[in-house]
Amino acid sequence: MESKVADAPPQYDEFCGPSKIPTETLYSSPPAAVITVQQPNVFMQGWTQTHLGPMSAMATCPSCQARQFTTVNHEPNTKTHLLALLICIMGGICCCCIPYCVKSCQTATHTCSSCGAYIGSHQN
Ligand SMILES: [Zn+2]
Repeated sequence: MESKVADAPPQYDEFCGPSKIPTETLYSSPPAAVITVQQPNVFMQGWTQTHLGPMSAMATCPSCQARQFTTVNHEPNTKTHLLALLICIMGGICCCCIPYCVKSCQTATHTCSSCGAYIGSHQN
């Protein structure tokens, strides 16, 4: 059985020949370097603490990784006691409890509203 020879014009091959682009050299990439991923825990804690304010804020829990609004608890700090002592010395003994009622005089402690883990704190 004679096989039919394709009657393709030889000019076609000559036309396509020089236009062939060596794709191997174009798409050859250097071997991917093995990148060691470090634990971002320290970075995450620093990021959340810098963005936490006196009010509830959106933060990612470092414990359960839940991203939601934090639960804020205001606790008196050293500045609160000093301010109360100062008011008491100046004669306002009935007003010395004001710093304990004013939230801006206290430390805002942010905890996870899901698992209760400590996320950060804000102090004026
Ligand atoms: Zn949590």
